[in-house]
Amino acid sequence: MTRIHNFNAGPAVLPVEVLERVRDELVEFPEAGMSVMEMSHRSKTFEAILAGTVERMSELLALPDGYKVLFLQGGASLQFSMVPMNLLGEGRYADYILTGSWGEKAWKEAQKAGDVHLAACTQADNFARVPDVAELTLTPGASYVHFTTNETIGGVQWQSEPETGGVPLVADASSDILSRPIAVEKYGLIYAGAQKNLGPSGVTVVIAREDFLSDRADLPTMLNYRTHLKANSLYNTPNTFGIYMIGLVCEWMQKMGGLQGVARRNDEKAALIYAAIDETDFYRGHAELGSRSRMNVTWRLPSEELEKQFLREATQNQMTGLAGHRDVGGLRASLYNALPIESAQALAGFMRDFAQRNG
Ligand SMILES: *Cc1c(COP(=O)(O)O)cnc(C)c1O
Repeated sequence: MTRIHNFNAGPAVLPVEVLERVRDELVEFPEAGMSVMEMSHRSKTFEAILAGTVERMSELLALPDGYKVLFLQGGASLQFSMVPMNLLGEGRYADYILTGSWGEKAWKEAQKAGDVHLAACTQADNFARVPDVAELTLTPGASYVHFTTNETIGGVQWQSEPETGGVPLVADASSDILSRPIAVEKYGLIYAGAQKNLGPSGVTVVIAREDFLSDRADLPTMLNYRTHLKANSLYNTPNTFGIYMIGLVCEWMQKMGGLQGVARRNDEKAALIYAAIDETDFYRGHAELGSRSRMNVTWRLPSEELEKQFLREATQNQMTGLAGHRDVGGLRASLYNALPIESAQALAGFMRDFAQRNG
């Protein structure tokens, strides 16, 4: 059996080195005589695994003092509600910027939980771009500005943070977390489901500035960030195996040269695919040039017939996960951190060949 080129949008490809390490430690974690899955989340061994994962992630992001890393559950989807439930309330309000369908979902949930304003929405442009600073209608006194760093479905990514005049950002970074260095100090809170860039599904990473989190005693205990902060992500049983794997993925990223090294490789992979799109009229990229995602590349072919044929032939060439989301159609290649450069090279080569034969 050989591993194929995995362009899945999520759950997605993981570093093979990490999978091999997990395999080697699966039955007996070193010095523990049992699997990570079988040990107490309150054991010394697991506490060390958790602390190691927090430490590696903090190092990768160069987290300033006062920022904490939490490992929760419920996916990014639960954060759509937890964020406004915790951060809004009496006399508080927030702005939302929508650049795609994940942002729309966050906006919809936020409206149920608090006073939220729409600062910008690019739906009229088919969610193919992020807005300019001049297009943002920010509300003075807002508690935070929410945005989606990378819209996984449209393949639209912010190249740098939106300018908010000092209002803390809250970001859904599910599909580009740890894919490049970011200015953490601009954020009050960052959340991400693990299953795109960090590890297996079932863990939600929340990175927050501690003094940004209010303490709303009226919230259900499990939905209050302070509960998890106080208990160091061990209020209830977390996804222990997922946290262990995220630690290994972070270690792998440190060996790749940290976020600088990872970003360089991601730029290289994305450049290969965008070059194959741009050099012929056969392919049409979905995202506008200045908003192109390095994580999810989305494009169309001249007909749906050809798109189906492309997918069929890609499968025959050991490439999977390339069907676009039904909202956008066409094709999507997810090029997350763990995708080897060889996979991007193989896809670019196949795209050229397919265009030549069918253009
Ligand atoms: C995948 C994804 C989500 C949904 O994550 P879940 O963990 O399934 O809730 C939310 N936002 C973005 C940007 C995503 O890519």
